[in-house]
Amino acid sequence: MIVNFAQRLKMVSPNRIIVIGVIGSEVLTFIVVSIMSMMFNGRITYDYLITGAIAALIVSFVVILIIVSLLKILKENEERYRRLIEYSPDAIAVHREGRIVFINPAALKLMGVKDEKEALGKPVLDFVHPDCRDIVKKRIQQAMHEKATMPLNEEKFIRFDGKEIYVEVMGGPIIYENKPAIQVIFHDITSRKLIEEKTNELNELKDKFIKIITHQLRTPINEIKWNLELVLGEILGKTTKDQEQLMKTTYDANERVIAIINDLMTVLDIERQRINLGESEACLNDLVDSLIVEYDKNIKIKKLKIIFANSERRSRLSIDPVKIRSAIAKLLDNAIKYTHEEGEIAMRIEEKDGKVLFTISDNGMGIPADEQGKIFNKFYRATNAFLSFPDASGLGLFIAKAEIEAHGGEIWFDSQEGTGSNFYFKLPIKSESKNI
Ligand code: ADP
Repeated sequence: MIVNFAQRLKMVSPNRIIVIGVIGSEVLTFIVVSIMSMMFNGRITYDYLITGAIAALIVSFVVILIIVSLLKILKENEERYRRLIEYSPDAIAVHREGRIVFINPAALKLMGVKDEKEALGKPVLDFVHPDCRDIVKKRIQQAMHEKATMPLNEEKFIRFDGKEIYVEVMGGPIIYENKPAIQVIFHDITSRKLIEEKTNELNELKDKFIKIITHQLRTPINEIKWNLELVLGEILGKTTKDQEQLMKTTYDANERVIAIINDLMTVLDIERQRINLGESEACLNDLVDSLIVEYDKNIKIKKLKIIFANSERRSRLSIDPVKIRSAIAKLLDNAIKYTHEEGEIAMRIEEKDGKVLFTISDNGMGIPADEQGKIFNKFYRATNAFLSFPDASGLGLFIAKAEIEAHGGEIWFDSQEGTGSNFYFKLPIKSESKNI
């Protein structure tokens, strides 16, 4: 309110304020003194008129003093504000009725204008790129009519030398030289925008590259798999023990390549939000049981002890069993991979507050504390894991997280390097499925 009053005061000329103030105060004082004299005496005497006139003079003198000091304060404030704007590292300009009436040195520099005179009086839209003119016009009209600030907006400007720049602009209506105007503050974001554009381009290129590679590789790799299955099934004739062993190793290696290709394709789908969740009733305990069978060979090779506290209550969840099984498989695969020989892996399923909590704990290498924040990022691998198993892809947890969250669940972990890790996820018992 005070600001409003001060702004309004600035719009009236100082002389007029003093004249109005003096006359107003004189009349008011005269009336007050006259009424008081009537109240006490019932009549106006010559003495009272003189007293009233002197009182009015004193009051007007005081009023003049107050108005003059108020105007002085306003002038000082205006001067301080002007200096602040002059030295501001942000580009600031003021325009009225579509023309520039003020521009600070930072704005001159940003717009490539050498002399203030070259910019003053110029149509403000001359500096705005044609692609943004409609939106800028709309913002100005809105700010003027609604007396509202113009929120931060990314726009394209054209410098004096014709070069295009990206800027972030905000502003709002002000009173400039006693008349309404629009003040805009803007700063250059060209380098950030160019990096963003380059990053998007590179991401698109990377996605295209992964897509081509995965699609091209899929067919020959599957052919290798089928041929190996024919040989291992002795359909083409008997194999020696050595041949069988060699074929099995080749088959396992091929399976790992297929898994990586599938993971890459899943990551592309997640990023494009193109994975549809199927929905059916399934029991987590059954999924875990089947995974323990599937990973039996790896568990035995490392002589790991598996403890699965298979709970009495076996809630049936409304989930996409393939996706949830895939998430558990990623967690189990990691626990097996990153736990030393003869280590221990424990899994548990509990029901709590209408949710199912799955926990998998291992006493393996753990995750260094300073790297824990990045562990769900795609392709991220902690240093200790990378040194022990250089060949993994770093995609498992990224996929598992997306799969759990798509079911309205959450996934997290705690871990201590050299001691072990606990990974947890929670799913609502009546899962709310959505697409990822
Ligand atoms: P990958 O196992 O292919 O490297 P993930 O996305 O599954 O990729 O895991 C990311 C990283 O998280 C791993 O490289 C490893 O550093 C760490 N990690 C995940 N699970 C465990 C675990 N159980 N123990 C220790 N480190 C783990």
